[in-house]
Amino acid sequence: MVRVTVLGSGSKGNCTVVSTSRTRIVLDAGFSCREIVKRMRFSGEDPEKLDAVLITHEHQDHVQGLSVLARRWNVPVYATQATHAAWKAWITPRTTMSLNQWLELRRQQYAESMKSGVYGENDPAAGLPASDGSVEIPSLAAATETLSQAEHGSSETITAQHADHGHSNHEPEELPDLEELIPSDTPAAADPAYLPCVEHFRAGIAFDIGDIHVTPFTIPHDAADPVGFVVQAEGMKIVLATDLGYLAPNVRMHLRGADLLIIESNHDVEMLRDGPYPWIVKQRVLSRVGHLSNDSLGEYLASEYDGGARYVILAHISESNNLPALARSCAERALEGRMGLLANRVLLAAQNEPLESIDL
Ligand SMILES: [Zn+2]
Ligand SMILES: [Zn+2]
Repeated sequence: MVRVTVLGSGSKGNCTVVSTSRTRIVLDAGFSCREIVKRMRFSGEDPEKLDAVLITHEHQDHVQGLSVLARRWNVPVYATQATHAAWKAWITPRTTMSLNQWLELRRQQYAESMKSGVYGENDPAAGLPASDGSVEIPSLAAATETLSQAEHGSSETITAQHADHGHSNHEPEELPDLEELIPSDTPAAADPAYLPCVEHFRAGIAFDIGDIHVTPFTIPHDAADPVGFVVQAEGMKIVLATDLGYLAPNVRMHLRGADLLIIESNHDVEMLRDGPYPWIVKQRVLSRVGHLSNDSLGEYLASEYDGGARYVILAHISESNNLPALARSCAERALEGRMGLLANRVLLAAQNEPLESIDL
């Protein structure tokens, strides 16, 4: 028997457990470690017996609790090399502040260092008080340069990379309990991207974790190297395919013969168009590297889908641009029109609570 538990799915976090009597893996770690552990225990899954965490892509709703989970339970992490690199860049502490805040910080640092006589030691011209008594900002040129290179073309925001992690006031919130986990004098404590064990896989190349056989496949999404997973165990085939702009031919191929499908039904196109998102975000969601709509999934279920799954779990349902009832009716209508597919039970993965475990 293989057991599948969707601990939660949506833009605020995604995590699914697949377990056999011998092996237990987690697909994505998009909630905080605490939340994942809580939901696992609630669902009768033991976090101490985790054999691996597999990551589809580096977006926050898929990796939020990765670092803490992997460290706390000493679990190997499986990701593609590009996803691992993108995650490392994401988790490195950064401080985001406005240009004025940044200049003020530099002013304060300058004033303090002038008091202690340290600042500008190696640059006699730096920061000399002007004749009107005002203080020149020592590295305004650097600030301007950083500003021009700032991500997202914002003219008001500087993203400053801190080599030294002394600025703990600005540590990202997603690492609240790292200090509890790692003794502060170990090298790992200073490196938020540290993981006890990482295995790199490549899309299209299958691998085994205990008695679970995993085949990652490429999905069209705006991440470094996003994948979906075919998970096979005990003669059952489970397919996880969320965060995909469209059902590319290779994805359709991997969906064939599934006993359980976890597939995205992200948005209702009308709701998205009329909804609160900025235009640029709407374009992103609708694009071929965005998310799958109810209609796109419905079209697939009504036509090409082979109908072999006992359960079809609709996942990554948007809270802003979709309604559970809409996603359900769209999928059920698509399946209803096809005789012989009545075994396909449609379930909805929720954001805030785990779905009941499914035994196959
Ligand atoms: Zn994503
Ligand atoms: Zn996502």
